[in-house]
Amino acid sequence: MRLPIEQIDEEGRELSLEVGAGQFPVLEDLRERGEARFESPIRFEIRAVRVENVFLVGGSVSARVRLCCSRCLADFSMELSEKFSLTYCPRSQMPEQERPGEETELLAEEIDLIPFDGEEIDLLEGLQEQLVLALPLKPLCGRDCKGICPKCGADLNRTSCGCENDRIDPRMAVLRKLKS
Ligand SMILES: [Zn+2]
Ligand SMILES: [Zn+2]
Repeated sequence: MRLPIEQIDEEGRELSLEVGAGQFPVLEDLRERGEARFESPIRFEIRAVRVENVFLVGGSVSARVRLCCSRCLADFSMELSEKFSLTYCPRSQMPEQERPGEETELLAEEIDLIPFDGEEIDLLEGLQEQLVLALPLKPLCGRDCKGICPKCGADLNRTSCGCENDRIDPRMAVLRKLKS
């Protein structure tokens, strides 16, 4: 996933990448922890453009991933699709950080410049971060997933267990316990 900068000019360059999830250490980690398992190669449609000294790398990422529903704990699979844009800057050209309050620093922070060394941009870390950001924080198998019964653990999407779950506020439950 290295992009030689000599191949990127002001006209821009388009490329499509298909990368196995195994190439991204963080995704391997998520898989081992059972949090996310990628079921397809990860596809990147990328456009890289040079603007003076910086390189804009933007595009979209898509992949099919199996996640665990945060409400009912069932496995489900979904199509991820997200746009991203990264800005790379040669380390030697990075605005100085040592003078706080100056405009250059603000600018660097605003556009989140990612430094790189040498003649190639290594996209791995940047793309990996975009992928992790594309994953839902609280995955849901469906928008109206009913979750599991807090009393008996039944999957309320499949059965109704008959427990009395008058969906009370947990704080109210504590008060009720104190009273009785
Ligand atoms: Zn669910
Ligand atoms: Zn129940």
